[in-house]
Amino acid sequence: MTSAAILHGKKELMHSNIEPILNVPAPDNKPHRGWWLSLLLVALLPGCATTGGRVKDTTRTFDTVVIDAGHGGYDDGAKSRWGGREKNHALSVAQKLRPKLAGAGFKTVMTRNSDVFIELNERARISNRQNNAIFVSVHFNDSPRRKIRGAEVYYRSSVSRPLAQRILGRIDAIPGCTARYVKTANFRVLKLNQYPAVLVECGYLSNRSEGSTCASSKHHERLAQAIASAIIEARGPFKNTTVQAPPATPTAAPVPEVPEKKKKS
Ligand SMILES: [Zn+2]
Repeated sequence: MTSAAILHGKKELMHSNIEPILNVPAPDNKPHRGWWLSLLLVALLPGCATTGGRVKDTTRTFDTVVIDAGHGGYDDGAKSRWGGREKNHALSVAQKLRPKLAGAGFKTVMTRNSDVFIELNERARISNRQNNAIFVSVHFNDSPRRKIRGAEVYYRSSVSRPLAQRILGRIDAIPGCTARYVKTANFRVLKLNQYPAVLVECGYLSNRSEGSTCASSKHHERLAQAIASAIIEARGPFKNTTVQAPPATPTAAPVPEVPEKKKKS
């Protein structure tokens, strides 16, 4: 683990190369000088950072979904005694997500379909090689504070925000699941992507209760269904297709951008 990872208490930082300059500070952290500087830069450079200048807005037209199972190979990602290894759960959700999207008429591309390590830059390259895509990265979370639980969805370009909110709303509607927040982040797979891109942290393996839930194949199925429903709804129906979208999960309440108070588990 790098010192940055220890400082932020989050293994994701090590693997996803988060750069805090554009990050909204965590709710329990005071804004630091870099954050104020980034705010100034964002104000001076409209359309550059927060609107994702290079990102093509395919959110209403995409026919391809790039499914990115986080980590893999020697990179376990998060792991805990009760939650197992993140890389396995991320792949399981991705593999369950694929047929749901394919069944709804989308072309699907997996950045990995087995326990192999793929460079972050390569993951973004795979996405950028597509003609008309969105990118969804699947992860599970980790914190030294074991009480923390709940799903988080990250995006970088503002065009990706509605999709991020929709995915979090769908996960929140799964019984027993908690939504934490939708937030901007400079994860490399988001930063290098030329398409709308979101990174879904499905839950905390470090939380005993949520970690145990997140380790189950049944829960992977529910998560895959929630993410698929959100993507299908976000896109809207294809023209000239007879393929029906799978039934959606119950309608989710809108999810705020600020952290919610923790629900009782
Ligand atoms: Zn991860």
